[in-house]
Amino acid sequence: MECPLCRKAELRPLYKGVADLEHGVQARADFSECPVCRALAQVPAPTPEAVRSFYPADYGPYLSEGFVARLKGIQGRRLAKDLAKEFPDRGTRLVELGCGAGHLLRGLKALGYRNIAGFDWHEPPLLKRDGIPFTAGDLESAPLGGPYDGVLANNVLEHLLDPGAFLARLKGALAPGGRVFIRTPNADAVGRSVFGAHWSGLHAPRHLYVFTPPALEALARRAGFVSVAVDTTPDSSSWSLSLQNALRAGGGPNAGGVGWPALLTLPFFELPALAERAVGRGSSLRAVLS
Ligand SMILES: [Zn+2]
Repeated sequence: MECPLCRKAELRPLYKGVADLEHGVQARADFSECPVCRALAQVPAPTPEAVRSFYPADYGPYLSEGFVARLKGIQGRRLAKDLAKEFPDRGTRLVELGCGAGHLLRGLKALGYRNIAGFDWHEPPLLKRDGIPFTAGDLESAPLGGPYDGVLANNVLEHLLDPGAFLARLKGALAPGGRVFIRTPNADAVGRSVFGAHWSGLHAPRHLYVFTPPALEALARRAGFVSVAVDTTPDSSSWSLSLQNALRAGGGPNAGGVGWPALLTLPFFELPALAERAVGRGSSLRAVLS
């Protein structure tokens, strides 16, 4: 099958039968690679019904209490501060698509943003408590509302069956001058070369695509975006989760979530994460589209 991202080559099978080593979902995933843009795609793609079954109730990004949720809260506040530099006006209309437990939106509310909203499958208790507007629905088909000055999709694009159609709908939801902020794992990361099929960016079976800078740029331009800026960013948790995957591999699907191997090794991977970013191959992609 032709690479649906760059459309320049046929995909080639690469990783077979990758198990879920975080949430114990039984479905295994096969990933193919594009020889031109180096992005990964799950081939065969799962059905929409199967995709729904990949997200158990204890799925990490949905957690609103406990240690992992507290870490995500810190991460959300840090991301909110970064975004505040892009949108100094506290009246900016911002929506987070795939907001999970709502940590980023809560960070924005704490900074004084008034026109913020979230969108995901289920309303997170933290947003309800804070009175932050929320819409429940399937990101691939539900109306996205708008117009928005800023659309945030933080580790969302790689979960979708048709990321190109999603980007085109985002373009349609923007106000004049509006921007889309994307974060997604980088298949060109040094960590993937190190850990291979155990690399956490695969997140089997939930990641249906893993992008590279050229793959994301090609898809965004086809979706109608004129300005596309893609760079990479460090993420030490990608390294510690990959190590945890390597330690758990061989035992079959594992439902241990983010366990002590990942948490205890996190500080030690700050340096490799910064090093891969320094050579332009950081764990995550960060894109701004308009
Ligand atoms: Zn390609």
